[in-house]
Amino acid sequence: MKTRALAVAALVALSATARAATVPSPSEFLGVKVGADRTVADYRQILSYFKALDAASPRVEVEILGRTTLGEDLFLAAISSEANLANRKRLQEIARKIADPRGLTEAEAETLVGEGKVFLFITCNIHASEIGASQMAMEWAHALATAQDAVTKRRLDEVVLLLLPSINPDGQIMETEWYRKNLGTRYEGGRMPWLYHHYVGHDNNRDWFMLTQKETQAVSRAVYQEWLPQVWLDEHQMGGTGPRIFVPPYSEPVDPDIHPLVWRDVNLIGANMAFRLEQAQKSGVIYGYVFDAYWPGGTKNTAWWKNISGLLTEVASARFATPVRIEPNELSGGGKGLVEYGPQTNFPNPWPGGTWSLRDIMDYERIVSDAILETCAERRADFLRNALARARAAIATYGATDAFRIPAGQRDVAGAARLAALLAEHGVELKAAPNGDVYVPLAQPYGRFVSELLTPQRYPETKLVPGKDIVRPYDVSAWTLPLMMGVTAERAPLPAALAPWEAAPPSVPVDGAAFALAPGSPETARLVNAGLRGGTARIARAAVAVGGHEWPAGTVFLDAAAAKAAAAKAVPGQSWTAVGSVPSAAEPLRAPRVGLYKPWMASMDEGWTRFVFEQYGFEPKTLDNKTVRAGGLNAAFDAIVLPDVTKEVIATGKPKRDEGAMRYFPELPAEYTGGLEKEGAAALKDFVEKGGTLVALSSSTEYLIDELALPVRNGLSRASEFAIAGSILRAEVVPDHPVTYGLPREVAVFQDDALAFDTVPPGPEMERRVLATYPAASQDVLLSGWMRGPEAIARKAAAVALGYGKGKVVLLGFRAQHRAQTPGTFPFLFGALYWSTAK
Ligand SMILES: [Zn+2]
Repeated sequence: MKTRALAVAALVALSATARAATVPSPSEFLGVKVGADRTVADYRQILSYFKALDAASPRVEVEILGRTTLGEDLFLAAISSEANLANRKRLQEIARKIADPRGLTEAEAETLVGEGKVFLFITCNIHASEIGASQMAMEWAHALATAQDAVTKRRLDEVVLLLLPSINPDGQIMETEWYRKNLGTRYEGGRMPWLYHHYVGHDNNRDWFMLTQKETQAVSRAVYQEWLPQVWLDEHQMGGTGPRIFVPPYSEPVDPDIHPLVWRDVNLIGANMAFRLEQAQKSGVIYGYVFDAYWPGGTKNTAWWKNISGLLTEVASARFATPVRIEPNELSGGGKGLVEYGPQTNFPNPWPGGTWSLRDIMDYERIVSDAILETCAERRADFLRNALARARAAIATYGATDAFRIPAGQRDVAGAARLAALLAEHGVELKAAPNGDVYVPLAQPYGRFVSELLTPQRYPETKLVPGKDIVRPYDVSAWTLPLMMGVTAERAPLPAALAPWEAAPPSVPVDGAAFALAPGSPETARLVNAGLRGGTARIARAAVAVGGHEWPAGTVFLDAAAAKAAAAKAVPGQSWTAVGSVPSAAEPLRAPRVGLYKPWMASMDEGWTRFVFEQYGFEPKTLDNKTVRAGGLNAAFDAIVLPDVTKEVIATGKPKRDEGAMRYFPELPAEYTGGLEKEGAAALKDFVEKGGTLVALSSSTEYLIDELALPVRNGLSRASEFAIAGSILRAEVVPDHPVTYGLPREVAVFQDDALAFDTVPPGPEMERRVLATYPAASQDVLLSGWMRGPEAIARKAAAVALGYGKGKVVLLGFRAQHRAQTPGTFPFLFGALYWSTAK
């Protein structure tokens, strides 16, 4: 600490002209040897270093983009020549015009290409355990800030580098703390027993079209509202037993709606990365491997549909900052692009095995970072021209009246308003009709992006060799927002004379003794939960007539005090109907006390579920193994939710032994091992028998089916012809049940597993209701994405509710709140929670 304080004081005292020569290296400034084995700088140190660089160098400007989930400052460092940074406003204006060239003449465009600079956006360390780039960024920035050679100076004249050393500061801090704590123990460099993003862990790189997390929102704003870069590199690390680095070109498949010049920019840069690595005698460089060019969930992936050339690099990992030794026989291919580990045209110089350290990771990353800067500088005018061409082509893809309409009058008005606001947050231009309909014109720079997100996906069945096998999806294969959000958005001609769209203010209740909230929108839960903290509410368990209007089962009535409390959480589009009084025929509703199970094998679905519950005001309490095993759960909880976790992990804390990649499962400290074991299973059984409600999501349903011997089984567990990859399916809903109140007859559910239920009639001691079923005709099942063997899932149950002892069990066999991207099916989950307090 002392070293740093002195260094800062010294820097501030220096005159501007003397500065460049005295910019300290990160190791000098931090007093630690950056990049050395077992040495890592944490995020706060990194930020302090960049602030010092900013103070010392006219080539570096630090900009705080916003606060992270846990309250850290998320920052970007703009690094360029002094002249460019001084001219930043004008350069940003040029980037904006290149990204949206509507109205520019050819001559004006050429002038902008002549004057503009390439904006190169580089994000590091989104996956917090992939620590190398966060450390490399400091060394690289120092080198750029102090370079006096003509080559580097020219690069900084041609390019404005926008460098984000970590876009997951909270996780970077968690990981470095965990690492330091375990240094010198048998757990050194091992994984953490919790998520490295407070809510979403590794899925923080799956959030880039839905924008649910603060970090995603802040970075998206910097990219699509402020800087409009033409090139974006996201630096990652991968497993440690294959190639040393992946650089683009990507592997198959490719989305045909992305402009081919994206791939030409990307491939040119990737080729130079590989070229420079090989020149520096770095072996193990691969392209055309694993990572595809099709799925829009990741950082720079989303950008492809917004005309940005997005690149990925993945360097082999060590054990965090601890070197690993990989035996030659342990080296293996990764499937797509490298089946067997050995020389190929895309991998001409395999790494032979040996020791691999943090320094190696940083060296590889530094070379590719310099290489992309080099290509962007060499190709400055080309890259600006290409960006312009992509934007123009996107606009020209559609006719002037091609548009989507989000009708004002629809089942879930609040959900529709949310979709419009999300598109606007993405930088999409919207229009408003006098009747409240929202129009999304397609002839705009982000038109292809709009089309991608509003239209069903049909996964391209790309084959690498003749035969039956296709290239399987990397992640999910569907992202059709209207289906996932349960709202209507349809193609319709763009009317003339529309006004620009503006976000509607939250709709709040006005004067009334009581208000009715009809069921079916997830947004009502937010209001009901807030209302329950300020007043009283009742829920209609059957249709009820109030004030000459018949309200369906599931309608919640808030008294004036509750409505006042709820107003603070109001969203646009929510409809409040004033009624004379809360009908006494309705059942008193109280806030469910929700426990959420959390295994020590960190579960992203646990995090997402917690996030969704918190967003909607359910205030879940985390239940670890020990707490469940202790029993007596009814005293504290009405409902216990098991997120999508396999039955093996729930029972024992470990994955199934024969699951390919998990052949060896490294130890964690004793307090983080084990699962529910026998006592935990007995405690859950006791909980439900005494009146509690158990809600199981996706894979965890198999745990309850086994442990409670339910008259249900997974009818797809032996269907070998069936396969699915994160797709959207049609399900037919029984709408008169507390779990499904207000849902339409037909819903779109998100499914990523071979899981659908067969049930048998139980004995008289048990009730069971099938709540949702896949259509009988197999061709009707798939709405968006990719599935093989739909016959196997047709007619099977998607959701089942059971009475069990004095309690209830709800099995949701699909992903009701998948990555917080499926609000259309949140009501199943919320309904189950409210049901837990029913009489
Ligand atoms: Zn990663």
